[in-house]
Amino acid sequence: MIGPTPTDKLPIGRGLRGRCPRCAEGRLFQGFLSLRQACEHCGLDYAFADAGDGPAVFVILIGGAIVVVAALLTEVAYQPPYWLHAALWLPLILIVTLVPLRLIKGLLIALQYHHKAAEGRFERRGDV
Ligand SMILES: [Zn+2]
Repeated sequence: MIGPTPTDKLPIGRGLRGRCPRCAEGRLFQGFLSLRQACEHCGLDYAFADAGDGPAVFVILIGGAIVVVAALLTEVAYQPPYWLHAALWLPLILIVTLVPLRLIKGLLIALQYHHKAAEGRFERRGDV
């Protein structure tokens, strides 16, 4: 069964740590971003988990803003050569995209589990 009990708090810490949203013991990820089939501790089936493009959108918006603002401020203040811009911002781009991507994916899946978020489905209404 998917869904938290009424006493559950938001599973933010579980999501950020990449742990199972139900038991907080099993691991959520098999590789860097690929999910396991199910929790190795409580058996929760991760088939419900689909963060879609959500993690990438947050990373692009937040990381992009950080890098662009930093590059603009540096350009205005120091006017460094372009090779120095590349040397500064390429590593920063990798840091602000790769590090939070897994964290945000875990968080979004944990919140998806907590709020029972899923694709819309048609339901039959008895005998109409
Ligand atoms: Zn679990």
